[in-house]
Amino acid sequence: MDLDDEKKRFDQLKSRHAALKKSVLDEEREETRSFLIYGLAKGLAEALSWADMAPKLTSGIQKVFGAHEFLLYSLDPEKRWNLLHRRGSWAKEPPILDAFPTSPLLIRPPHTDEVIPVLFIPIFSSEVSGSEMNGALFMKVHPDKNENDLVLAGGEFGDELGMALNKAILFSQMELHSRVDGLTGLLRRQPFMDRLAEEMKKAKAFQTQFCVLMLDIDHFKNVNDSHGHAAGDIVLSRIGQLLREAFYETDVAGRYGGEEFIVLLPRAQLDGVMRKAEGLRRRIESESISCGFTQLKITVSIGVAHFPSHGTTSEEMIARADQALYWAKERGRNRVISS
Ligand code: GH3
Ligand code: MG
Ligand code: MG
Repeated sequence: MDLDDEKKRFDQLKSRHAALKKSVLDEEREETRSFLIYGLAKGLAEALSWADMAPKLTSGIQKVFGAHEFLLYSLDPEKRWNLLHRRGSWAKEPPILDAFPTSPLLIRPPHTDEVIPVLFIPIFSSEVSGSEMNGALFMKVHPDKNENDLVLAGGEFGDELGMALNKAILFSQMELHSRVDGLTGLLRRQPFMDRLAEEMKKAKAFQTQFCVLMLDIDHFKNVNDSHGHAAGDIVLSRIGQLLREAFYETDVAGRYGGEEFIVLLPRAQLDGVMRKAEGLRRRIESESISCGFTQLKITVSIGVAHFPSHGTTSEEMIARADQALYWAKERGRNRVISS
């Protein structure tokens, strides 16, 4: 055998080795992906609330697709999209789709309003083929990702998500009807107002006093704008926790609006509440809230109103606390002011 033949044989062997290595790697990658998806499905099935489910879904999507921004929708029988969860900022929600494709689809600019490709994954109500599509996931994926891999993983992911989605829909309906706000763990506005009306009656009947405290996060829009909506939500959730810890069990804390909170302190004197509010303001000012790798510093403004000296109806009490809060903002924020 001459040297040329030998070299040819060597090259052949080399390319066969490379092909084998690639197929082993492909198989390993596929196995890892299936393993990740299986783990995620198991985690989602074990979740007992949406608060428990959302972070699992988020980290699953990051691990399997390397995607950080996604939208999760349920699809009602009239084919209307209902947003269940959003991460990241999106130009349009949902990204336009003319039809309802029944298999995963990679939508590249300019067919999407986003600057990078969006992977669409249909979700079906059960694993039975031909079952109704009950939801969809949209995620922004890196332009260098292989389309085939994405679509394959998308199919597996969509299959596993059906049951979890049914659960997520149930959780979101439960939350809608619940008295407690899911993000902060505080009473929603209406249940809070009911509780306030009750206290007003008691205070009038027994000639006792109480205070209402309104709290608004300073420059909260900046948090959302610079760190994203998800970071904003983490801040809201942490403030909710701090409020629950700061007050007596007989006090009632609620989420009045987006980033506005309200607290009812039955039988409390004004000067005591002012001290308490000042302590809370300082506590929040000293806090560093972890959002991923960033530590956020925030401050709050607080307005306080006292019954009976500042108002004698629920509406008056709220209006006076709100007015005091407005003054606190006017005077430079990060302070407590009474009506
Ligand atoms: P100020 O100090 O005057 O209160 O300034 P601000 O930016 O806090 O006030 P503004 O009322 O202009 O903005 C409130 C922002 O709160 C706007 C809205 O995007 C955000 N927000 C309301 N609800 C939510 C929520 O549930 N999650 C997140 N992330 N942001 C919310
Ligand atoms: Mg506000
Ligand atoms: Mg604010």
